[in-house]
Amino acid sequence: MSLEDWDRHIVWHAFTQMAEYEPLIIDSAVGCVLRDVEGREYLDAVSSLWCNVHGHRHPRLDAAIREQLDKVAHVTLLGASNTTTIRLAKRLIDLAPQGLEHVFFSDDGATAVEVALKMAFQYWHQRPDPRPQKNTYVALASAYHGDTIGAVSVGGVDRFHTMFRPLLFDVLRLPAPDLYRLPPGVTRDGALAHYLGTVERLLAEEHEQIAALVIEPLVQCAAGMIVHPPGYLAGVRRLTRKYDVLLIADEVAVGFGRTGTLLACEQENVSPDLLCLAKGLTGGYLPLAATLATDEIWRAFLGTYAESKTFFHGHTYGGNPLGAAVALASLEVFEEEQTLVNLRPKIARLSEHLARIATLPQVGDTRQCGLIGAIELVRNRDRREPYPWEEKWGLRVCDAARARGVLMRPLGNVLVIMPPLSITLAELDRIAKVVEAAIVDVTERRAAT
Ligand code: PLP
Repeated sequence: MSLEDWDRHIVWHAFTQMAEYEPLIIDSAVGCVLRDVEGREYLDAVSSLWCNVHGHRHPRLDAAIREQLDKVAHVTLLGASNTTTIRLAKRLIDLAPQGLEHVFFSDDGATAVEVALKMAFQYWHQRPDPRPQKNTYVALASAYHGDTIGAVSVGGVDRFHTMFRPLLFDVLRLPAPDLYRLPPGVTRDGALAHYLGTVERLLAEEHEQIAALVIEPLVQCAAGMIVHPPGYLAGVRRLTRKYDVLLIADEVAVGFGRTGTLLACEQENVSPDLLCLAKGLTGGYLPLAATLATDEIWRAFLGTYAESKTFFHGHTYGGNPLGAAVALASLEVFEEEQTLVNLRPKIARLSEHLARIATLPQVGDTRQCGLIGAIELVRNRDRREPYPWEEKWGLRVCDAARARGVLMRPLGNVLVIMPPLSITLAELDRIAKVVEAAIVDVTERRAAT
């Protein structure tokens, strides 16, 4: 048996139909280039699933982990601490929107969300003026917040979540503020008012039972890179304050520079009550997540042990010091390399490429927020008619791109360009040209059959 056989038959890959899986076995990487066991090279257009920030094997990040290894690899945060994780907590508070003053560490995006949901629930039970009837959540249609049961409950991607419906708690659902598929009678110009109207109506009616509204700021990534109308996030913050509903911002995917600012919330001057961070927190090196909370929430959990106000939740590796060390180093690299300033020309270049790709006949829409680019393939452009997902158009194009040396992962019919922020302009050009050629190749092949 070869490694490839073991990979095909023993390793159970996430979100992968194992009966159809074609192994891709990476052996090493440097910068934005991954190399497989056969020596073939691929540009990483998916940032190793939206988490790599400064490239692979960045010397500063590698060194930070090595230095931490010489101190200690892991210490529990259950009733104990370590120097590195404390420093990271302080650093996160310094860079987060004002009002977020406490950090609960876990290890993945889903756990960061799970923590936020449970904190919000318990907060309403324990605050000085308790309102335990506020025990329901509001989430957006097509939302994705991770794969644990709480995160799946607030999730709304039918194809992933329907199977688990009997296990989930009920959630109040808002339409996703989608600008490509607008409801009948709503124009692009009227979209913001329309979608905020749906939020206000729901909150006005149901706020007595709502603990929190959970949202991905600016872009719903796994939903297919649905870019929200500017002003939507700020509007949601205004309405959640008006109706006394906590706001949970899930920046697991959009955080750490992807949208052009370090955090997406900054762009609309929004400070949520709970903020979830993961993925890019460690520069994409190690699993680490954080849920930031306001002082008001934190204070509701204080009391004697006997009062049972403790947050009884934790993960063995939450706040792991190796992860914290590389997270601190990643934040330093943001400053030293002026990552966000250097991103501007890349964002502009991505826009140029998307504008060109948007003219292809099978491309219904292109969307962009910062260095997140999306290309939606459609069966019929005029009717905005999607391809049936079973036909796997997105996967087929990504396979064609892979054969040309660019690694991508689609969201159904939506192709995603989301490379590490350290991508060079030349590499970005190559990714865009390969994607374009792959779309033409795959869709014209279809036309010919
Ligand atoms: N939240 C958002 C917005 C995500 O995009 C993801 C993962 O893609 C998660 C949560 C879950 O993160 P993880 O896969 O680290 O559990």
